[in-house]
Amino acid sequence: MGSVILYIEDNPDNMMLVKRALESRGYTLLEALSGLDGVAMAEKKEVDLILLDINLPDIDGYEVARRLRGSAKPTLAYTPIIAITANALKGDAEKALAAGCDVYMSKPINIRELWARVEAFIQAPHKP
Ligand code: MN
Repeated sequence: MGSVILYIEDNPDNMMLVKRALESRGYTLLEALSGLDGVAMAEKKEVDLILLDINLPDIDGYEVARRLRGSAKPTLAYTPIIAITANALKGDAEKALAAGCDVYMSKPINIRELWARVEAFIQAPHKP
């Protein structure tokens, strides 16, 4: 079972937080700082799960999810995508799911929730 996670996020504080949290459980984190970079990286590398910020500097997370789901790379049709929404407004979550994300979580990122959400799809290489 794989353990490579791609995080598409433009905020360096969130990136650092999530990197530390996931690497402590043995996951390998790939970082993309924009939507277009994220789509390109997902198509180029073997990725087991994608964490997706919605507010990105170029294309937004909804558009990223649609492009991933519509990619010519077959595995991206079902690679799990966890959306991370900035405001807990009901519409955000529904839009994320409609765009092809599997689940969503709200900022600020709660590390225990993150671990649990990720582990629902891929087992942690290092359990505490
Ligand atoms: Mn952002």
